[in-house]
Amino acid sequence: MTNNRKKIWMDGSLVDWNKATIHILTHALHYATAVFEGIRCYKTVNGLAIFRLSDHIQRLINSGKIYFMDIKYSKEELERAVIDTINANEVGEEFYVRPIAYYGYGKMGVNPLPNKVSIAIAAWTWDEYLKKENQHKEKGIRLMVSAWMRIDGRTMPFLAKATANYANSALARVEAIRAGFDEAIMLNTNGKVIEASAENIFIVKDGLLITPPITSGALNGITRDTVLAIAKENNIPHEIRDITRDELYIADEVFLTGTAAGIKPVSEIDNRIIADGKDGSITNRVREKFELIVHDRGNNLSKKWLTFVKNT
Ligand code: PMP
Repeated sequence: MTNNRKKIWMDGSLVDWNKATIHILTHALHYATAVFEGIRCYKTVNGLAIFRLSDHIQRLINSGKIYFMDIKYSKEELERAVIDTINANEVGEEFYVRPIAYYGYGKMGVNPLPNKVSIAIAAWTWDEYLKKENQHKEKGIRLMVSAWMRIDGRTMPFLAKATANYANSALARVEAIRAGFDEAIMLNTNGKVIEASAENIFIVKDGLLITPPITSGALNGITRDTVLAIAKENNIPHEIRDITRDELYIADEVFLTGTAAGIKPVSEIDNRIIADGKDGSITNRVREKFELIVHDRGNNLSKKWLTFVKNT
């Protein structure tokens, strides 16, 4: 499937995929002191293009700032490095790109600051995340509300896309998978619906598109922001507000959004079928527009958000 695993960018050099290794006493491995991004590069009618590169790199820089990281590269240099990484692996496929900034090997102990901050960027072809085998196209995924609460702002900074946050996500995800579901939804410590283990959530009720606020603990997802922009552009009524667990059960439509997962319709939550269990009309509308934008098929948001790999 993937014959494009050639090079990984590490602190300024492109190294062979199999040689992109680090020391076992790397600080980030022991204390989860790393921040990362997930970016997609799509095939478009005009060639390969990275979606919202600038916004992803800015979020990486912001995440690093929250963790006192001294990132030695400018935003422009990091954007260039992503492009170089894709070009170094290019075989005409779409890419998922994973930049990570981490405190490296040096001094053990909880304080990360004595250690150098390193950056690596890997890119590979990653088929749709959350794809269900043999799933009927019209049938969404099945979710359960996890017993694990989403990290609280008083415990962890949730606006940093930090590896540490994903221990919480991993526990919820495993719980859901072991219980026979596809993905977990997490509530915050006030009992409000926040997000899935690696996706934001939207519901539709009586024609209104609703997603929880960032300030309640949801990641400021770039796909979430894109969906809100699509809603604005297409006059789809939308609102950012807290959602309760029972609102999920009686929603007309529910979908998840994320760079890895894309826009994923949900057909069932906690064993309640959502509406008639089929993909909803607003979900489909939003997803169609999203596909037009990322593949540069005639939506003017493409111009603003696509960075072409070969032409830059
Ligand atoms: N929430 C969490 C916890 C995530 O890990 C992700 C994936 N980055 C998202 C939401 C969706 O964010 P984005 O659309 O920027 O990928």
